[in-house]
Amino acid sequence: EQKLTANVRRRLAPIGKFRVYCLQSIIYVEGEDGADMDTAFEALKKVFGVISLTRAAACEKNKDAIAKLAIEYLREDMLRAKSFKVESRRSDKAFPMTSIELSQYVGNALSDAYEDIEVDVHDPELVVHIEVRDLAAYVHAMPVHGAGGLPVGCSGTAVTLLSGGIDSPVSTYMIAKRGVKIDAVYFHAPPYTSERAKQKVVDLAKLVSKYSGPMRLYVVNFTEIQMYIYDKCPHDELTIIMRRYMMKIAEYFANKEKAQGLITGESIGQVASQTMQSLAATNEVCTMPVFRPVIAFDKQEIVDISLKIGTYETSILPYEDCCTTFVAKHPVTKPNINVIKNSEKHLAEEIERMFEDAVKTAEVIEIG
Ligand code: ATP
Ligand code: MG
Repeated sequence: EQKLTANVRRRLAPIGKFRVYCLQSIIYVEGEDGADMDTAFEALKKVFGVISLTRAAACEKNKDAIAKLAIEYLREDMLRAKSFKVESRRSDKAFPMTSIELSQYVGNALSDAYEDIEVDVHDPELVVHIEVRDLAAYVHAMPVHGAGGLPVGCSGTAVTLLSGGIDSPVSTYMIAKRGVKIDAVYFHAPPYTSERAKQKVVDLAKLVSKYSGPMRLYVVNFTEIQMYIYDKCPHDELTIIMRRYMMKIAEYFANKEKAQGLITGESIGQVASQTMQSLAATNEVCTMPVFRPVIAFDKQEIVDISLKIGTYETSILPYEDCCTTFVAKHPVTKPNINVIKNSEKHLAEEIERMFEDAVKTAEVIEIG
């Protein structure tokens, strides 16, 4: 709860001045100095750990004040719906009415004020909620769904391999949803990949960070390693060997960030480098667990999530990726680890130096 409250505060800080406090597993957010509640409400729909959100109005703990507030505050909801009921809860047991009495009292006041709407206690279109709590009484209509999951920061850290595609932003979102703090690695291959392609990944990281909170993005220059592998290794194994180096470099940054795992957007059989055999060959270089949350998803299922979280439009911008710059016409689909390791012997010590250079020269961008 403390983590979540802190995350809520941090998320609201750039929007305006808010009083944020947690009582009995409910986080209250009160705007100060005309703070923008619409923007705040939208931002809070993206905070993991929030199950539901409600925009409530507060008043003193007195039955007539509550009824008056309900009539004014719920005007639009009451005019729109055909039937309603009132549900009350009192955590302040000193309040002089029972929940049922309070519901009846406010229900009658609403019925008098809005004659076209009927009371229906079994299947109402609108449920009016009254809550009598420690500091005040609150009136609100239906809550909306929150982002669910766990507060980011209470489940450790993972480093995501973030490309400009559709899948990795979705995977990153999914792991962050379980409360995992995120840092990211992006591999580019200038001049084969453009500044625009890099900007696209920065933009995707920003979109994901609306959910995951701030992340550190390492932009790794992968050109030299890629060219060297291209020179020395069989071309049909290029993608697999390249991907093994990506995983190794990502793991380097994961150790640096004291992370407990890596994340990729791989899905079984989607492309040659994501067959079971290719995944085994790529995975073999990692000592950390690699989380692949979309491993069993069809592309459309991944697209649906990317549309929901707002990354799709950016992901489909047609910029080149370093993985697609040097691809073989007929990549292996069933790589044998021993054959791959044998091919890697051609890379000699040069590759160690290149690895060092790549991690040393990585650009660090703080996102969110
Ligand atoms: P995505 O849509 O996430 O780009 P993809 O379907 O294009 O995935 P691949 O290109 O095979 O699949 O990449 C598989 C995974 O490897 C990606 O989901 C991502 O996690 C990682 N990856 C690929 N390219 C890069 C890159 N340039 N930088 C960082 N990670 C990458
Ligand atoms: Mg990709």
